[in-house]
Amino acid sequence: MKVMHTAKEMRAWSFEQRGAGKTIGFVPTMGALHEGHISLMRACVERDDVGVLSIFVNPTQFGPNEDLDKYPRTFEADCRIAEDVGMDAVYAPDARTMYPEGYATYVAVERLTDRLCGAARPTHFRGVTTVVAKLFNAVLPDRAYFGQKDAQQAAVIRRMTRDLDFGVEIVELPIVRESDGLAMSSRNKYLSAEERQRASCLSRALFQAQEMLENGEREPKRIIDAVRQGMCEVDIDYVELVDAEEMTPVERVEGTVLLAVAARVGETRLIDNIKFSAKA
Ligand code: AMP
Repeated sequence: MKVMHTAKEMRAWSFEQRGAGKTIGFVPTMGALHEGHISLMRACVERDDVGVLSIFVNPTQFGPNEDLDKYPRTFEADCRIAEDVGMDAVYAPDARTMYPEGYATYVAVERLTDRLCGAARPTHFRGVTTVVAKLFNAVLPDRAYFGQKDAQQAAVIRRMTRDLDFGVEIVELPIVRESDGLAMSSRNKYLSAEERQRASCLSRALFQAQEMLENGEREPKRIIDAVRQGMCEVDIDYVELVDAEEMTPVERVEGTVLLAVAARVGETRLIDNIKFSAKA
C-alpha cells in the first residue's frame, strides 16, 4: 500500500490509475479508525478498482475551544487496518502542507449549514467543505464514501459536489453501532465508564422515535419531545427533525426526514441520527 503526503504525489498517482482505466474510490477520515470507517473502506474496495484512504485531522473544522489537540492519532495502526481491508493508498498530508502561510481560500455551502451542528459549531462546515474540496482535487476520485453518522456533513458534501461540478459520486453508508446501539465514533474513547453508559441513551431515544414513526406518528413536536425525554441523562445540544436534504425543520413528517441529535456527555460532544421515509 502506497503512503503519500503531498497533493502533487497524490495527483500523479491518481492520474496514473485513471490513465490505466481504473476507477478511484475515496474514503476521507481523520484517522483513529474503527468499524464505521472500515465499513466505508469495504464498500470502496468492493466497488472501485483502487481505493484511497485519507487521514488528516483537519484544523479548520475545529472551533477554538474544541478537541483538536487531544483528538486521537493512531497513524501506524490505521495504515495496517487500511492495508488489511485492501485499500491501495493512504493520503496523509500535514497541516502546514494543506494550509501554508498565506492560505486564504474557503468553500462554504449556504443554508444547509445554518442549523444542527452548523448552529453549534459556526465555522465547522466551512472547514469540512474546504478540506474535502482540496482532497477531491488531490485524489481525483470517481466515488467518495461517507457515513450517515455525519448526515448533515454528507448532505453538505453532496450539495457542494453538485454545485461546484466535481463530478464525484457521493455514496452514503449506514451508521455502524456498538452492541448497545451507541454510534461508533473516534470520540467515544474520551468517555469514562459511567459516561459511556449514559451515552447509550442517544440511540435508545432515537430507536424509540423510529418506532413512533413506523407506527404512524407524523407530528414533529411529539417525536422531538419523546426524544428529549429519552435523553434526560445527558446535556442536550439539539434534537431536530428536518428535511433530509435541505436540513430545514418539517411541519409534518413527509418524504425523507432526518431526526438528528447532539449532546454533551461530560466533556464529550456526541451526535447520532436516524432517517425515515414516510410513504406518500
Ligand atoms: P471521521 O474520521 O470521524 O471524520 O469520519 C470519517 C468518515 O467516517 C465520515 O464519513 C463519517 O461519517 C464516517 N463514520 C464515522 N463514524 C461512523 C459510523 N459509526 N458508522 C458509519 N460511518 C461512520
